[in-house]
Amino acid sequence: MAIVSSGSASAGAAAPREPRRRLVDPAPQDVDEQGRSADRGAAEGPLQREDSLRPRRLADYIGQSELKQVLGIAVEATRAREEALDHVLLYGPPGLGKTTMALVLAEELGVRCRITSAPALERPRDIVGLLVNLEPRELLFIDEIHRLNRVAEEILYPAMEDFRLDLTVGKGTTARTRSLPIAPFTLVGATTRAGSLSSPLRDRFGLIQRLEFYGLDDLQAIVQRAAGLLQIELDAAAALEVARRCRGTPRIANRLLRRVRDVAAVGGHGRVGADLVHEALSLHRVDGRGLDASDRRLLHLLQHGYGGGPVGLDTLAAGLGEDPATLEAVVEPFLLQQGLLQRTPRGRVITEAGLAHLQAHPEPSAA
Ligand code: ADP
Repeated sequence: MAIVSSGSASAGAAAPREPRRRLVDPAPQDVDEQGRSADRGAAEGPLQREDSLRPRRLADYIGQSELKQVLGIAVEATRAREEALDHVLLYGPPGLGKTTMALVLAEELGVRCRITSAPALERPRDIVGLLVNLEPRELLFIDEIHRLNRVAEEILYPAMEDFRLDLTVGKGTTARTRSLPIAPFTLVGATTRAGSLSSPLRDRFGLIQRLEFYGLDDLQAIVQRAAGLLQIELDAAAALEVARRCRGTPRIANRLLRRVRDVAAVGGHGRVGADLVHEALSLHRVDGRGLDASDRRLLHLLQHGYGGGPVGLDTLAAGLGEDPATLEAVVEPFLLQQGLLQRTPRGRVITEAGLAHLQAHPEPSAA
């Protein structure tokens, strides 16, 4: 397993302050031409670049009030008991702040967070190696946890439940199981597909939380915060314009903001207004509702290729040259949330609002 150490940060009340080392596994991802991957979404480059914009404390984490309330209470109670936080499962579309929340939890608890993803835990020794090296109360973040293989899952069960590894030593008739205690730790699992998790694994999480798409006010605040960190002078109206076009997703908001910054820099603009945002994002074919070319291609194919549906996911994916899992986990949730698309037992159907959007943008590639 290719593990590199990177990042900075955490300690806290219980533990002496020391630089937080993070073990980050840059597992290979299937990234499409939009820079979106099946599970991590719009991964726009090295994790370090994302890190520079991540809020570090719960108080700086914008929006998701229910999530913050639930986890805030759990953190406080755990700190008082001086125990490891119960295992946490975070689910929801990519780019909404699951990794960020894991890092925030570690910061609040004053412990390290080790980051990996399920595809990097192929061999039993990968996960065993991580588990035996955990210090008491540390967080282990496993992204795309629905992709864990069965052997890795079975190693995790006693680890999560009793902080114990059951290892098989020897082969055939001489094989024996030996138990090895490990430090009490917190597993933070993240997934875009909660339904794909096996129920024994899901049942071992004490806290299961869904992340929602962000509302406009929260997104505007996220854009303004990021603009401050990136040293962009941005009008409130410009921030709102980015917020409208980012599919309810902070990661996309940050990416669009960087594109706006490029156009502003090349055009020699100092302060960025709504007009410049419009110009910059039209260049990137992001329309006024935040749909990009692949979203419009999907609606276009559904309407003009299949009479508006119903049509099955696999057929739609084949017509678009997309992987069905990517379509379902990355492209569809926002279209569903916006009421442009419906999932029915017989397949996907375009809605009235979807049709209206298509009529306003007749060419699948038009901004
Ligand atoms: P996920 O793990 O769900 O795919 P991330 O946690 O990597 O998403 O978030 C992507 C980026 O969005 C982060 O780098 C961070 O800058 C930003 N972000 C996410 N959630 C928030 C939030 N609640 N407030 C401010 N910025 C956020």
